[in-house]
Amino acid sequence: MLDRTAFHYDNGALFCEGVALKDLASRWGTPLYVTSKHSIEDRYREFEAAFSGLEHFTCYSVKANFNLSVIKTLGDLGCGCDVNSAGELFRALKAGVPGSRIIFAGVGKRPDEISYALLSGVLMLKAESLSELRAIDAIAAERGLTAPVALRINPNVTAETHPYITTGDSKEKFGIDEAELPEVFSLLGELQHVRLVGLDMHIGSQIFDPEFYVAAITKLLDIFNYSRSKGFGVEFLDIGGGFPATYDPMKPETPLDRFADKIIPMLKPTGVKVIFEPGRFLLANASVLLTRILYRKRNHTGKEFFVVDGGMTELIRPALYQSHHEVLSVTRHDETVVADVVGPICESSDFFARQRAIGDAPEGELLAVMTVGAYGAVMSSNYNGRLRPAEVMVEGSDVQVIRRRESFEQLIQNEV
Ligand SMILES: *Cc1c(COP(=O)(O)O)cnc(C)c1O
Repeated sequence: MLDRTAFHYDNGALFCEGVALKDLASRWGTPLYVTSKHSIEDRYREFEAAFSGLEHFTCYSVKANFNLSVIKTLGDLGCGCDVNSAGELFRALKAGVPGSRIIFAGVGKRPDEISYALLSGVLMLKAESLSELRAIDAIAAERGLTAPVALRINPNVTAETHPYITTGDSKEKFGIDEAELPEVFSLLGELQHVRLVGLDMHIGSQIFDPEFYVAAITKLLDIFNYSRSKGFGVEFLDIGGGFPATYDPMKPETPLDRFADKIIPMLKPTGVKVIFEPGRFLLANASVLLTRILYRKRNHTGKEFFVVDGGMTELIRPALYQSHHEVLSVTRHDETVVADVVGPICESSDFFARQRAIGDAPEGELLAVMTVGAYGAVMSSNYNGRLRPAEVMVEGSDVQVIRRRESFEQLIQNEV
């Protein structure tokens, strides 16, 4: 569901929790990311409740939203972190999440990243190839440590989602191919400085059909049995993230219980702790991007444009994935116009919505681009000399800046 409790109209004005979005824009300018703290907490609790029948540990996928305050909000509730780089590890540790609650993933880890993860005492490093297992072993040996590793398996399941966010297909770069497993297990028998603690998979993002999990978990369980037959018991089965969020009210997310109903009976009999790595599910609907209407114009065919002060540099998802985001006028207008909502960047792919009914707001008013809490601010860039936007977090009627807007000086600070 679009989180109507976190973002709602009150007397014709759009609010985040107890704060009018218009007031936030006046105070902190636009474009502005606005995040509801309660929304994050509620979604995390909803996730935990849905899987409460299974012994599990949730490590939220930091790449979906790496803001320190977001990590801390989840960390304070007991959630762990799934990190994908040394930089994300640094962020998770800075936000106060201990290494023992962090798992380190990534298809191409550099030696310095492996060292950093080991020295941080992470719960496990995921190995995605034979070469990487050897590299982890060698680095652990140098440090006199034993590295806890999980094997990321490519389950060869093609989840029905956008091709850029399917990751469990054998034609993709992710994970260890099944055909390599005999070699992997014989290598694990030889290596002295790695200890197999888990088996892992992640089939992609925004997965609506639980059957894709069923297919992939079936594979994972085969490998679990194979692993045991080779004398390797594991403590963790990590089934990744991918649980969906509602972007378009016409395409509501599959309720989590439908996933839990399938997943729990498959995994519970193993007696092994299950790790989940949700990102989008927890965060997508926790944030909006506030942007001001600079100009409205119409071309000779009658086509209408709202030119706004935010663009693909703040939110690249429409350009990158053709993703749908609702665009609401911050002051409610009952009249609508069918229009494109476009940004100021010099690219034709710089749009938030195309041919969409938008509240007939005049120039100078605000629009809210909804469902931007996952893979939104984290993908912002300085292209076109843009300053990364400010971010605020709302809790009830309290507002905290959680990221200041970049300055021109910061734009050039590393240039010599
Ligand atoms: C991106 C990613 C996730 C999170 O995916 P969501 O669709 O946001 O839940 C989890 N695990 C891994 C390995 C990932 O790469």
